[in-house]
Amino acid sequence: MTVTYICHECGKKYELDTLAFRCECGGLFDLEKPKFEFARDQIVQEEWSLFRYIQALPFEKGSGAWKETSMGEGLTPILTLDPEMPNVLVKLDYAMPTLSFKDRGAAVLIAKAKELGVEKVIQDSSGNAGTAIAAYASRAGMACEIYVPKATSTKKIKQISAHGAKVHIVNGSREDTAEAALHAAEKGDAFYASHVYNPFFYEGTKTFAYEVFEQLAGDMPDSVIVPLGNGTLVLGCYYGFQELVHANLIKKMPRIIAVQAETCAPIYEAFIRGEQSIKEVVNTGTLAEGIAIANPLRGKQVLEAIQATAGEIIIAPEDRILDAKKALAERGFFVETTTAATFAGFYDLCEKENHDSLGTVLIPLCGAGLKSAE
Ligand SMILES: *Cc1c(COP(=O)(O)O)cnc(C)c1O
Ligand SMILES: [Zn+2]
Repeated sequence: MTVTYICHECGKKYELDTLAFRCECGGLFDLEKPKFEFARDQIVQEEWSLFRYIQALPFEKGSGAWKETSMGEGLTPILTLDPEMPNVLVKLDYAMPTLSFKDRGAAVLIAKAKELGVEKVIQDSSGNAGTAIAAYASRAGMACEIYVPKATSTKKIKQISAHGAKVHIVNGSREDTAEAALHAAEKGDAFYASHVYNPFFYEGTKTFAYEVFEQLAGDMPDSVIVPLGNGTLVLGCYYGFQELVHANLIKKMPRIIAVQAETCAPIYEAFIRGEQSIKEVVNTGTLAEGIAIANPLRGKQVLEAIQATAGEIIIAPEDRILDAKKALAERGFFVETTTAATFAGFYDLCEKENHDSLGTVLIPLCGAGLKSAE
């Protein structure tokens, strides 16, 4: 596959060996790839990881880099949450080597970096993305440095350093942390393996959609209800469903219903106001730390994707998050508090709208409960 980076704003193209991680105009990179139509018989049946969809992923022909980095991530179970709610499916995306769905993006991004001959990566994260990049980089034999804000839970910091990554604790906000990592990336001494900037991450998260397709034998849910901070899973779902529609493997796009935190909801606010541009907000504190992104750099792109599926953006009421966490644990699922927020949003939506009008819904359980501080 001939693949290049292409600026989302001005369309300028960059070769994959560029040291730039964004366009000179400031725009972020998407990928330009040849159009392809995936066929069901291209699934590699004997590969028990998300790399069974390798034919849909932008690697060089015959590239085996992923074999050195994969840890069997993906292929997470889909189940009904409760026998009384047969229309509500959950997908256990915390059942991953580093206990969150970020493994999808990290596995593909690091495999691509390996293919490109990268020896050192840097990244910034409030936790799970950093952990996933650190783990896969270590498996790939790369040096790794991760920048985290000082408010990051000690558990997550320990998990990152356990993989041998150097952790830089930034005395400031999530945004200050991104700034610090950007400075390091600009010096050009390492590959910026950012889940926000680097579009190969989204090639990984799109395998979520391919799995739903394969596991449900093409009988897709009417809606997926997905957490939304930077939008790596929202965009992954969107790209994946889009490719499946294009290949005629599914008839229509599931609606994407995205959930933001009540106290940090910049994309929701633009959606409600009917605007396309996103204004930075101030995060006034939330239990759903994993989706509290005050200035999502791909916000506009994410909003457009949600709108293209006739989807919507909803809020997770802060005062329902812990109840939702308890309700999930009672059904056997111990999830990260941020994941409970998705359900707080869903339960709230069910009360406002007729539950049946939502049709079949599928909700990912994105992070394991042991990750949360409380
Ligand atoms: C990263 C993360 C999210 C939010 O994903 P975005 O890509 O920021 O939209 C939600 N839940 C968990 C557990 C996460 O790790
Ligand atoms: Zn540009």
